[in-house]
Amino acid sequence: MRVYNFSAGPAVLPQPVLEQARDELLDWQGGMSVMEISHRSKPFVAVAERAEADLRELLAVPASYRVLFMQGGATAQFSAVPLNLAPPDAAADYVNTGHWSERTIREARRFVSVAIAADEAASQYTTVPEPGSLRASPGAAYLHYTPNETIGGVEFPYVPDTGSVPLVADMSSSILSRPLDVSRFGLIYAGAQKNIGPSGITVVIVRDDLLGGARADTPSILDYHAVAKAGSMLNTPPTFGWYMAGLVFQWLKREGGLAEMQRRNQAKAGMLYAAIDASGFYSNPVAKSCRSWMNVPFRLAREELDKAFLAEAEAAGLTNLAGHRAVGGMRASLYNAMSLAGVEALVEFMREFERRNG
Ligand code: PMP
Repeated sequence: MRVYNFSAGPAVLPQPVLEQARDELLDWQGGMSVMEISHRSKPFVAVAERAEADLRELLAVPASYRVLFMQGGATAQFSAVPLNLAPPDAAADYVNTGHWSERTIREARRFVSVAIAADEAASQYTTVPEPGSLRASPGAAYLHYTPNETIGGVEFPYVPDTGSVPLVADMSSSILSRPLDVSRFGLIYAGAQKNIGPSGITVVIVRDDLLGGARADTPSILDYHAVAKAGSMLNTPPTFGWYMAGLVFQWLKREGGLAEMQRRNQAKAGMLYAAIDASGFYSNPVAKSCRSWMNVPFRLAREELDKAFLAEAEAAGLTNLAGHRAVGGMRASLYNAMSLAGVEALVEFMREFERRNG
């Protein structure tokens, strides 16, 4: 029996994708699994190329952008971005909207002079900067932001306008949740383990003109130009993860693409936030204009009830609702593969729990 899994990542995957992977596990294309063949073999190269083509179609990626499949998670990109995009004496702008922005900034400081274009500390990271309010520093190599803070549950409802300064986004927890105008960005990266597939692979979408400027001492595995030239096969890629990502992209296309995901995600998040706001028992601290569709943190009126809430939710088939260890409370992640029925079941459980304990 499958449960409703609200994990923030690695996270729930679409059931038809898991079923196909199961059916193909022992005999994919002739008595072997996809994990047991060379990444350079014709059948695997076809998997890799189709995954890229499907992702390009889903996001309408312009021809002037490269799609890379890299390793090291989003965390490796925290270093790869400055190494590739900023010369050693350059400055770069960073927006701080919470936990993941801070992690990114800490790592970037090893390589580049970081200027803070906005910091939402005053609201305790429950807001995003007003449109047009970012402080751009002169000559910044790029501006980096985190469109969706996975822990804080804060999401930009707009794409910042940085003029000619390349905009770089960590979309780990929001990619593929709705349509996106890729042409607004210089570079997008996302770890796979939320909306793309299993952990182990990182999608990077980078504009052609940003390739080729990596510092001389950049490890080749983090050099976008080198990775692009090698077709993301500079070394052995995580072949199973790539295959799984490809199955997820096919599933997304069958389900109606990103416009349909937007409709579903808005409905799911809307239902949960409405239930939280309608109760005097649950609360979410994030400003209404920038609440995340993907990660919904919430608290109970009395913290001493947290343990009972989690245990009873688990017993009801609603799992992984504990908030991040850094913040406590609860968090429901509602990625593409979470069904409306799952959110309905959660809301029903929350009402019932409040009735008994409120
Ligand atoms: N950025 C964001 C927004 C994330 O949510 C995460 C992981 N939860 C990371 C970066 C780190 O990703 P990884 O573990 O793939 O390095």
